[in-house]
Amino acid sequence: MGTVHVIGAGMAGLSCAVQCAKAGHSVAIYEASPQAGGRCRSFQDEGLGCLIDNGSHMLIGANEATKNYLDDIGSRDLVSEIVPATFPFFQPDTGQQWQIKPGSPYFPMWLLAPGRRVPGTNPIDYAKALRLSRAKKEDTVRQIIGGDDPLYDRLWQPICRAVLNTDADDASAQLLWKVLKLSFLKGESACRPMIFEKGLSAALVNPALAFLENSEANIRYQARLRGIRWENDVVLAMRFPEGLLRVENEDTVVLAVPPDISAELWPDTNPPQETLPIVNVHFRVREPVELPGGLPFLGLIGTDSQWIFSRDNVLSITISAASAHVDMPNWEIANQLWSEVTAILGRNMGRLPPWRVIKERRATIAQTPTVLASRPGAKTALNNLFIAGDWTNTGLPATIEGAIQSGRRAARLAIRRMTKVPEDN
Ligand SMILES: Cc1cc2nc3c(=O)[nH]c(=O)nc-3n(C[C@H](O)[C@H](O)[C@H](O)COP(=O)(O)OP(=O)(O)OC[C@H]3O[C@@H](n4cnc5c(N)ncnc54)[C@H](O)[C@@H]3O)c2cc1C
Repeated sequence: MGTVHVIGAGMAGLSCAVQCAKAGHSVAIYEASPQAGGRCRSFQDEGLGCLIDNGSHMLIGANEATKNYLDDIGSRDLVSEIVPATFPFFQPDTGQQWQIKPGSPYFPMWLLAPGRRVPGTNPIDYAKALRLSRAKKEDTVRQIIGGDDPLYDRLWQPICRAVLNTDADDASAQLLWKVLKLSFLKGESACRPMIFEKGLSAALVNPALAFLENSEANIRYQARLRGIRWENDVVLAMRFPEGLLRVENEDTVVLAVPPDISAELWPDTNPPQETLPIVNVHFRVREPVELPGGLPFLGLIGTDSQWIFSRDNVLSITISAASAHVDMPNWEIANQLWSEVTAILGRNMGRLPPWRVIKERRATIAQTPTVLASRPGAKTALNNLFIAGDWTNTGLPATIEGAIQSGRRAARLAIRRMTKVPEDN
């Protein structure tokens, strides 16, 4: 039986490898960096003296492929689900606090309860979101909802930034509709926020590596694929710094790397090139902080800080679609966000504590109509080469769920091919 060669050990590569190993195939993984996880990882920060994530991540109950992945690798209990689904918000300039608490989509009585809506809005304002269902491929959220809608700044904009990492002015209306269909329109359980109390790697990466090691997968770090050699319609070899590796006839290669690297390695695709940054600032505080709203995260309106996450002694601030912040000096971002944090949580938070700014310059593809139109599928013109990654055409936002679904799709294609190819061919 052949080997599935998986290039890249991010969520897409790991989920592909886990599926192939589960199906009894031999798996080899090649990861360019010294650790697995890609854009979704934890690391020990020497300056802060603790483990932090590259950026705060959240799942929702609708992320079924991710939940299956967690079950496969045995780490579902390392992700905490907030029940009932609740998203707390605070707007510092008005002092208003509210909680979005989605309920049944069929009897949306929850919308009749003012305590479960954005203040000053009425149920009809939410019904306007149904216009998104008729959006065309080229429409943006702003074009469909309208920038003066009472929910624009206090609901649609935060959702677009958090889920699509794209400002609502530019974000694809069709993709936002897909998100709403899979979450709000499925009911409370599909909307439940799921958070990583022990960090991203503890839940998503380390158990996958343990599973793969148990399955005798071969995992190589600092193994950057430099090129592939192909002839007719098959990959014949892969070029690594230490030399060429022959790809046997019964083997399959899955490229699970970011879009720019994929384009270098396999020039036949013309993947999305426009990406957007996410900036995270982690503050090491003296003691764990309870956030207004009583949950470990809080959405903020009208400030540069968009979300605060509180975990143990670390307060983490997220700014998505962060083009305006990514080139600011780190000290300036840390100072500015700390002054917002103290204004929200109280002056007794003290002076600027130890901090770490993490700028993920290419956090995700820009999820605009034009960029989304260039997402490729998993198949290539070579019959033993498949592509995975959150940026491929999954029909979902570029998220953990999208990455995991893409990895599973590539695994299905790889397994199908490998069970068809006769070994002596
Ligand atoms: C700050 C931040 C916050 C986010 N928040 C959320 C969130 O709340 N919820 C959510 O669902 N998603 C979130 N995301 C998105 C999520 O992290 C990504 O969608 C997902 O991790 C992408 O996984 P991937 O496997 O497609 O790509 P990657 O993680 O980029 O994996 C690609 C891997 O390929 C490796 N590689 C590159 N070149 C080579 C080469 N030549 N040879 C070998 N290996 C190579 C890389 O080192 C990397 O490990 C966030 C992303 C960021 C950056």
